Amino acid sequence: MPPPVEDLSASSLLAVFAHPDDESLACGGLLARCAAYGVRVSLLCLTHGEHGPGQEHERLADIRASELRDAARVLGIRDVVLLEHEDGMLPWIDSLRLEADILGAIRRLQPQVVVTFDSDGLYWHPDHIAVHEQTTAVVAGLGSDGPSLFYVSIPAGRMRAVVDAASKAPARADEPARPILGVADADAFGSMAPAPTLVVEAGDFAGKKLAALRCHRTQYDGSVLQQLSEPDAARLLGTEHYRRAEVGSRDEVFIEPFATPVPVGGGT
Ligand SMILES: [Zn+2]
Repeated sequence: MPPPVEDLSASSLLAVFAHPDDESLACGGLLARCAAYGVRVSLLCLTHGEHGPGQEHERLADIRASELRDAARVLGIRDVVLLEHEDGMLPWIDSLRLEADILGAIRRLQPQVVVTFDSDGLYWHPDHIAVHEQTTAVVAGLGSDGPSLFYVSIPAGRMRAVVDAASKAPARADEPARPILGVADADAFGSMAPAPTLVVEAGDFAGKKLAALRCHRTQYDGSVLQQLSEPDAARLLGTEHYRRAEVGSRDEVFIEPFATPVPVGGGT
């Protein structure tokens, strides 16, 4: 358990991501933990993730919006701002539009902490990298008066370990390899992730993270995550890796008591 922290009800955190499910997979543990301690947790999600397989786009957009609302409820996210930028097109739409959306959310919600993807976009997803770049630009523009900015990544090898653990589960021999929430290559995760500076153990909140992931049924059902045992899922997905950005406020922030600093040059 983390050390006791003071009442955090005056604190707020904004997560900025590209698709429904990013918030749960990348940082569901931190979001659930912060919400449980009274932090006002908000999410800006820039697309509906409507270009996934298996459904007509408009219908999938509606389903994923509903899944996101369910996951947000599980994690304790109070405000969900779900925008309608086209899935898969974030690097190619006018960056000023994205910046205006992100800046608008920061101005309205006044977070002390913003969390988004690190520069590797979890697995080099172009939408994720665009969100990293635009969020960084907006926070940099706000200078020391802006929020503190933290980047989340998934370390190299973690998703390979997920696949290996899942392969212990009984599966039909003719079953094709299952994706990880739509991502086929487990080794893409974290292959170029910058070193984290903080590790958050979700601990008791790993269960909420798993429950939130299950809410994203169009992605979770048929994924390798579905084959994980509960203890393996908590062990492999319940540790989250963050890096403090060079831009933004340098103030001490409320998530630090939840986290273990990574020594410079150290691994995890
Ligand atoms: Zn995504």
